[in-house]
Amino acid sequence: MRIAVPIETEGNETRVAATPETVKKFIGLGATVTVQSGAGTKAGIPDSEFETAGAKIATSLADTLSGAEIVLGVRRPSADVLAQMPKGAAVIATMDPYGNEAALKSMADAGVDAFAMEFMPRITRAQVMDILSSQANLAGYQAVIDAAGAFDRAMPMMMTAAGTVRPAKVFVMGAGVAGLQAIATAKRLGAVVTATDVRAAAGEQVESLGAKFIMTEALKDASGSGGYARELTNDEQAAQAELVAGHIAKQDIVITTALIPGRPAPKLVSRAMVESMAPGSVLVDLAAERGGNIELTQPGKTVTTANGATIIGFTNVAGRLATSASQLYSRNLVSFLETLVDKKEKALAVNWDDELVKATVLTRDGAIVHPNIKFDAAPAPAKPAAKAAEPAKTGATGKATAPKRVAAPKAETAPAAHAKTAAVAKPIGGKVKKAAPIVAPIAKAAAPKKAPAKPAAAKPAAAKSAASTAKGKK
Ligand code: NAD
Repeated sequence: MRIAVPIETEGNETRVAATPETVKKFIGLGATVTVQSGAGTKAGIPDSEFETAGAKIATSLADTLSGAEIVLGVRRPSADVLAQMPKGAAVIATMDPYGNEAALKSMADAGVDAFAMEFMPRITRAQVMDILSSQANLAGYQAVIDAAGAFDRAMPMMMTAAGTVRPAKVFVMGAGVAGLQAIATAKRLGAVVTATDVRAAAGEQVESLGAKFIMTEALKDASGSGGYARELTNDEQAAQAELVAGHIAKQDIVITTALIPGRPAPKLVSRAMVESMAPGSVLVDLAAERGGNIELTQPGKTVTTANGATIIGFTNVAGRLATSASQLYSRNLVSFLETLVDKKEKALAVNWDDELVKATVLTRDGAIVHPNIKFDAAPAPAKPAAKAAEPAKTGATGKATAPKRVAAPKAETAPAAHAKTAAVAKPIGGKVKKAAPIVAPIAKAAAPKKAPAKPAAAKPAAAKSAASTAKGKK
């Protein structure tokens, strides 16, 4: 049984799908592990540590993948990697399938069996394989650290001979896995923390962490299925906006984490709300990758508004803690792989009837097999010559609009619209620099154009809804 760990090829990916610890576990399962040289570099794991753990280091991608039965990744393999993948290999990664059906079709065409870790059911047995929780937990922590780094004041109350420093006020919107960890982290730093969610059950969890739960009377409970939130009605949205508007103006730091499975991230913080905040305020939008909860967020960028607020829109926030994130992610993979292996025979033996396999397998035997993924391979009807000569339509991003053939809307954010409204953006590097230049005034422009936003990866129904909190509850 040969396991391969190639280098992640997506630009901002820092994590790696195996660590020396998990390499040892795979060897214990009877596998041989080949790691591509440099795969762990961005996560602080040199080749030598993989080697000491018993992995073989391959210098080329071809050598890494040669003869592999199992290929582990953080992200879906790129076309280049896929081209060198042995037919029949099991490829296990975060697949980001919605809106990327053509890429899934390429995996089917390459003859690999692809498994999407984010589709792991949230049932007790699979908690150890839950990459959404392991990565969201770290992201919630990192969001507060990023906010503290960009904040010009201290977080805790300090009583000194020179006078008292008041504690920072932190408001967390969305109290799921990431939000609860953000609350716990902000509390540890000494902030005064409030939080909101649309699920009434979140209130108790927020309060168990010592924060105050804020929820409007008009919104009793918007729990959907499986412990997730449902989308709010217009009236509920208005009631929530009124509540938030009054509260946010008094906050120093706002962390947004709100997501709804299968829908774009809800817009919770308007431009007016940001403008109501004092200079030096910091907002971190953990939903940036799914279009953002804050109207002015620019995914992948940090912007400073005319009133002196900083909006941080990092994507891949867990990847900012590459070592910890890789440790937890790779342990999630080991736990899943243990269910795919015949331990006596020391061989890959996938039970295709296992509920975990059925929930996660996307492609098998040359076809897309997941019931949630639709790919219409039928060629588009031929257009009349005059029409064919028309320029391609462009979306809000300015890119040609993809042919509509997917089940879920393609991920898209609206940078063009944001560019009009927000300040100058600076590309994200490592740390958020407080000294970033203040930017151009926010134009009192018309409301930003709406662009189809990426839906949250649909999450399978949870059999149990329990929050993973800093107290270790799951
Ligand atoms: P998520 O990432 O889907 O969403 C984050 C949070 O945003 C959720 O708490 C959601 O209610 C909230 N939200 C959505 N719309 C909102 C709005 N308009 N305003 C404010 N908040 C809004 O959620 P998650 O972190 O994956 O957790 C979802 C649920 O799953 C929770 O109940 C959690 O306890 C549960 N969970 C269960 C398990 C398990 O049983 N193994 C593991 C992890 C999480």
